[in-house]
Amino acid sequence: MEWFKSEIFNLHQGSPVPANSPILSLNPFLDEYGVLRVGGRLNHSTLPTTEKNPIIMPGKSHLAILLIRHFHGKVLHQGRHFTEGAIRAGGFWITNGKRRVGSVISGCFQCRRLRGKQQNQIMADLPTDRVTQAQPFTYVGVDVFGPWSVVTRRTRGGQASNKRWTVLFTCLSIRAVHIELVEEMSSSAFINALRRFIAIRGNVIEFRSDRGTNFVGATDDLGVHAISVENGFVRKLLQEKQVSWVFNPPHASHMGGVWERMIGVVRRVLDSLLLEHGQKNLTHDVLATFMAEVSAIVNARPIVFFNAMDKQLCIYNN
Ligand SMILES: [Zn+2]
Repeated sequence: MEWFKSEIFNLHQGSPVPANSPILSLNPFLDEYGVLRVGGRLNHSTLPTTEKNPIIMPGKSHLAILLIRHFHGKVLHQGRHFTEGAIRAGGFWITNGKRRVGSVISGCFQCRRLRGKQQNQIMADLPTDRVTQAQPFTYVGVDVFGPWSVVTRRTRGGQASNKRWTVLFTCLSIRAVHIELVEEMSSSAFINALRRFIAIRGNVIEFRSDRGTNFVGATDDLGVHAISVENGFVRKLLQEKQVSWVFNPPHASHMGGVWERMIGVVRRVLDSLLLEHGQKNLTHDVLATFMAEVSAIVNARPIVFFNAMDKQLCIYNN
């Protein structure tokens, strides 16, 4: 009533909102509780009502700021895109939302603590496997990152390994991620991670990585064993599953940009979790749980940017 008095008044009378209303293009209506909601053409979609007809919030109101902060925290201090997605999925439409979200994030204390400047994303031409229609995880980028040190108990056979790596699988079409933890950078640990991934995610046609024949991931400097994809057990596994493994050409590491960027996203979410938890009592269990939560957050982000409401583009990964 404070911000949209004439709109609400008109709608009560059964007449359209004033032609100069800032929310005219949202085709607003009053629901059975008298709450102002976005109208639109999604009535037949299977999205929940809260997402089809989000509640309209005046962007300049204090409540909108509180909502933005709330959802920004819920996506663990990710950027504007993630935050907007969460707000939308939470059933709210904030007028002038892009600007409001941007200003809340730029003033966020925890974000400044985690990372200084906001990054800009550079877009390039999309390769075939990213624009081919396929089930999620048909074309998959692979990379390894880590290690993290975890607290372990002494076992009877001596000290258990206290390093953990992650194998990050990125779907090249929708950029969903799947993360497997490995306890050592060895062929057998790597194969087990591959097998777990294939078992859960199903039919992979092609793996891509941007290393040479020896897949060593981001651990070159640690003197770990190189994992050969071209012979031995990995080759056998790939043949059995009829999966091909493609290496990006040398000196073309930008081709790995999709999943290197996903590593960046995963790292940022993880940093936020670790900052809250503290690194001291990080166990394998806790790390595995964090990885699952990171995947959930990354995979729940919207995969297209929101534009004007009339475009009604709203596609989610999950
Ligand atoms: Zn923040």
